[in-house]
Amino acid sequence: MIPINLIRQYKFCPRIVYYNLLTNIKPIYPRQVKLGLDYHTLQNEMIKARKFKKLKIEFNQILNEKYIENSELNICGTVDLAFLCEDEIIPVEFKDIESKPSYSHILQLVGYGITLEKKYKKPFKIAFIIHSNNMKFFKIQITEKHKNDFFNILKNINQIIKNDILPKSDANEAKCLQCEYLNYCDDRF
Ligand code: SF4
Repeated sequence: MIPINLIRQYKFCPRIVYYNLLTNIKPIYPRQVKLGLDYHTLQNEMIKARKFKKLKIEFNQILNEKYIENSELNICGTVDLAFLCEDEIIPVEFKDIESKPSYSHILQLVGYGITLEKKYKKPFKIAFIIHSNNMKFFKIQITEKHKNDFFNILKNINQIIKNDILPKSDANEAKCLQCEYLNYCDDRF
């Protein structure tokens, strides 16, 4: 199955999808990835004591670090958090960011939302990205465009798998220098 976090990786560079799904190369992660993982672990520990009043939503149940998959779309992943409400389902991701979330962060959440929507048979209309220890957050209204963009990227990823050829990349130097696969892209610079 295609891990949903590859949607974000595809937006960064399609080659990462190729290396990840079609090779056995072990990536060498830069330090900021380790810091991001530490942030996730910390958030998941703190989550147990939270009531999420700031988000101003009514919910019946919280799903914490929930693995989800959809065999029809051939996608899977672990959502940081999801609120099961009476008439909707709301996915949440913790991100170690200060500025507005990137579109790729949002599309990753859309992937979780679509998968949750199908699993729990409740509509997915909003999502949250929580980004500090003080529960600062971005609320995202999900549109048809978000969903269409998600499905377009999924289609492109399936095409990469089918072709089994290293795709072209327009990643710039700044991206490549922070990439875990830089050693393998010998046509760079
Ligand atoms: S080094 Fe650059 S081109 Fe290669 S996978 Fe990473 S971002 Fe893409």
